[in-house]
Amino acid sequence: FKVPKAVNEPVKGYAPNSPEKAAVLDAYKKMWNTTIDVPLYIGSEEIRTGNTKTMSAPHDHQHIVGTYHLAEKSHVEKAISNALNSRQAWANMAWEQRAAIFLKAAELIAGPYRARINAATMIAQSKTIHQAEIDASCELIDFLRFNVEFMSQIYSDQPTSDSSVWNRIEYRPLEGFIYAITPFNFTAIAANLPASAAMMGNVVVWKPSDSQVFSAKIIIDIFKEAGLPDGVINVVFGDALMVTDTVLASRDFAGVHFTGSTHVFKDIWAKIGTNIHHYKTYPRIVGETGGKDFIIAHPSANVKQVATGIVRGAFEFQGQKCSAASRAYMPKSLWPAIKEQVITDVKSMKMGSPEDFSNFITAVIHEGSFDKLASYIDQAKKDADAEIIVGGNYDKSKGYFIEPTVIVTTNPKYTTMETELFGPVITIYVYEDAQWAETLKLVDTTSEYALTGAVFSTDRYAIEEATVALQNAAGNFYINDKPTGAVVGQQPFGGARASGTNDKAGSALNLLRWASPRTIKETLV
Ligand code: GLU
Repeated sequence: FKVPKAVNEPVKGYAPNSPEKAAVLDAYKKMWNTTIDVPLYIGSEEIRTGNTKTMSAPHDHQHIVGTYHLAEKSHVEKAISNALNSRQAWANMAWEQRAAIFLKAAELIAGPYRARINAATMIAQSKTIHQAEIDASCELIDFLRFNVEFMSQIYSDQPTSDSSVWNRIEYRPLEGFIYAITPFNFTAIAANLPASAAMMGNVVVWKPSDSQVFSAKIIIDIFKEAGLPDGVINVVFGDALMVTDTVLASRDFAGVHFTGSTHVFKDIWAKIGTNIHHYKTYPRIVGETGGKDFIIAHPSANVKQVATGIVRGAFEFQGQKCSAASRAYMPKSLWPAIKEQVITDVKSMKMGSPEDFSNFITAVIHEGSFDKLASYIDQAKKDADAEIIVGGNYDKSKGYFIEPTVIVTTNPKYTTMETELFGPVITIYVYEDAQWAETLKLVDTTSEYALTGAVFSTDRYAIEEATVALQNAAGNFYINDKPTGAVVGQQPFGGARASGTNDKAGSALNLLRWASPRTIKETLV
């Protein structure tokens, strides 16, 4: 099978006076001055339940972006029945036609919708233009294009036959529907979780995060414009527990595609276990959850490279990436130079509204997150074994702004070395150079997570030692680079331990979870 060769979407620069900058600012202003109203999308209907919540911009929380409608249990049941009613036709559609819909969606994002989806991500998720561009445009386009290519490879992977027997595998979708639960922090992930299951012929009930409703609406509108039949992806907003319980009570629940917190994922897993006798088929459980991602520098490391890794890895998008560096281990000999460089870099970063393209940091997602981060920062100010070397201020009078904050601790098991904070805070432990091997062990054993991590060194032997010692500590391991920013088609993404099922997003491995293959042996004589 041949499909258009997937290529990564080039990242636009948004330089001053560039047409793309003008287009995105224009979209931003128009959206800022309009109040959007987001319905549920169930089958062919857009349902306005009248029970609404408002969404505000995290960097200007008095500014109401719009409202969205909340589902009752009956709406979730209706979403399930609409999905199931659409299943047969969708599953039987030639896979090339399904592929064409998602490739068309990719082109719509690359072209006419790019400014709008970036602007929506900037307004409601408070991403800077660069962070919106690499997520809502490039990564989302890449997911669609590469998954189509992976899908075609899967379908062409066939067993051997001979002249009298033709063996073949039909990669059928699962018998039932898939539940996609998606996070606020990546528009691309929010789109990919329902889309990758749907691409493989499945029907979906999608529950986006309350903090990502705006871009979710644009995604579903684009999918529909690209030709996605009604009922294939049904979107419901509302009380997460109610939606989940209703979905998991269905006999036709066939799998969950999840990105979010570890404890919610474990609760879902446990509920699936409780309901297991009730289901028609064993549900597929695919999840990417938290991270407590590390950077370790060897005494041979390049100081500037390490400092850049810390600052970009910890603070881009206010540290709200599962992959964000949030604990670091620095050798005593290099620490004074790294420290100086980190402080200089952090002080040069501007914080403010994403509308000003020179800002590097904007607001964290909501008040709950702000208050949690502020309390950890306050605690660090009091603790004898912690010191804040840069940052440490916060202000929620206009938006939820937390300064990028670096804590240095003398205790390698200090709370913020172990706990995922999901914000612009990194904690650093300085180790004795001679303790390299012991420190590698510490990195491996300090956190329950294993999502991303980075080693910095110019010594090939030390790189090898770290690669072996940390083989289970990160599903995405970086050598001399920050641990964020995995590119679809280049670094398939996901981790194990408490970080997820490691079914790499943007890979054939992931797509295969959404297939229930039938092997056919046909005797020809
Ligand atoms: N894939 C993203 C990265 O490599 C992180 C995804 C997440 O935060 O869930 O930075």
